[in-house]
Amino acid sequence: MAQSLHLLWDFHPLQRHCFGTIEMNPKKIILCPECDLLLEMSSVEEGEKLLCPRCGAILGAPVKDSVEKVLALTSAGLLIYVPAIFLPLLTFDAAGIESSGSIADSFLALINTHFYFTGLMVFLTAILIPLVKLVMLFIVAASLYTGRSSRKTAVLFRLYHHLDEWGMLEVYMIGILVTIIKMLHMAHVNYDVGFYCFIGLLAATLGSAALMDKKLFWDEIDKQALAREQKEGILPCRRPEPNNGPPALSTQGRP
Ligand SMILES: [Zn+2]
Repeated sequence: MAQSLHLLWDFHPLQRHCFGTIEMNPKKIILCPECDLLLEMSSVEEGEKLLCPRCGAILGAPVKDSVEKVLALTSAGLLIYVPAIFLPLLTFDAAGIESSGSIADSFLALINTHFYFTGLMVFLTAILIPLVKLVMLFIVAASLYTGRSSRKTAVLFRLYHHLDEWGMLEVYMIGILVTIIKMLHMAHVNYDVGFYCFIGLLAATLGSAALMDKKLFWDEIDKQALAREQKEGILPCRRPEPNNGPPALSTQGRP
C-alpha cells in the first residue's frame, strides 16, 4: 500500500514540494474533490475548517449535532412549504385597486401569457426542486438519526448534491425585495402570510445546507450501511487495508 501511494505521490510535484516524501496512513487518505490532490486527513475541531492547500476547497467543517439540526430544519421547511409557495406574498394597494400573488400564481401567469420556457424554469427552480431537495435531505437526516441508513441513502444524498445548484429560492427573495423597493413610492405594500412563510422556507433551506457536516453524513451513511450489510450477511465492498495491496474502488461480486 505504501508503495502504491508513493507512486501516486511522485505524480504530484506540488505535493512533493509542500510535504516531501512521507509515509501516509492509508485509512486517512483522501482526495480533494475539487483538484484531486492526494492528502492525509488530519483532525479538525468544531468551528474550524480543513482546507485544501492547493485550491482552498473545504474538506472538513465539523458541526455539533449536525444530523439533529438538519432534521429539525428540513422538518420545519416541509411544514411551511405549502403556505410559502401557494399563499400570497404581497398585496399592492394603488388608488384603491388591490393586487396580490403567490409564487404559484407567478408560474400560472407566465404559462397563461405563453412564456412557457420561463414558466417551466420558475416551476423547476422555485417550486419543484426546492421541495425535492428538502424531502431528500429530510429522508437522509431521518435515516441517520434513526440508524436506518442504507446504500439507497447514499444514492439519495449524492442526488441531493447534484440538485444543489438548481434550487434558487434566494434569487426569488432578491426579486421580491427589488419589487418592494420599486413599488414603495407607487403603492401601499402589505406583507401577507406567504411572505413570512417564504422567509422561513428560505432560512430552513439555507440553514440546513450550512449546518450539514458533509463528512459526518458520508461517514455515518457508510458506517450504518456497512453494519446493516454485515447483519444481513451481504458481502460488503472490500476496504483498503495496510499491506493488502492498493484499494479497490468497487469490488462488488469479486473475491
Ligand atoms: Zn484541492
